[in-house]
Amino acid sequence: MAYVYDDQNVFAKILRGEIPCNKVLETEHSLAFADITPQAPVHLLVIPKGPYVCYAHFAEEASDEEIVDFTRTVGEVCRDAGVVEPGYRLISNARQHGHQEVPHLHVHVLGGRALGPMLHPAG
Ligand code: AMP
Repeated sequence: MAYVYDDQNVFAKILRGEIPCNKVLETEHSLAFADITPQAPVHLLVIPKGPYVCYAHFAEEASDEEIVDFTRTVGEVCRDAGVVEPGYRLISNARQHGHQEVPHLHVHVLGGRALGPMLHPAG
């Protein structure tokens, strides 16, 4: 599949330092920062620094080094945020049906309260 990356998306601008973010962790290949509209007491975003649209794109084209870095960063963010116990949720929305608003791969790390069932009934 051919993925087209739009480098004017808001997370690309954060990565270029054009707009600020509330950074919680940065590694060679990944960045974690607070979501600007938190939906839970803990609501952080983890993004790869590379230009990947969604998880499938990342899995297909990222290097092993980027994938390991990103995966370990998500885990470290969960640990640092103190949500490993009693629990957390990871969400990565993709494309139209996934209701993705920012077309740069991101994993939402949500926690700090009981989060309820995974999905609302389809509306
Ligand atoms: P998604 O619907 O999965 O694409 O979610 C995009 C997320 O990015 C939303 O939860 C927004 O609140 C968040 N967001 C948008 N702009 C910013 C920003 N400048 N800094 C931090 N989070 C943002």
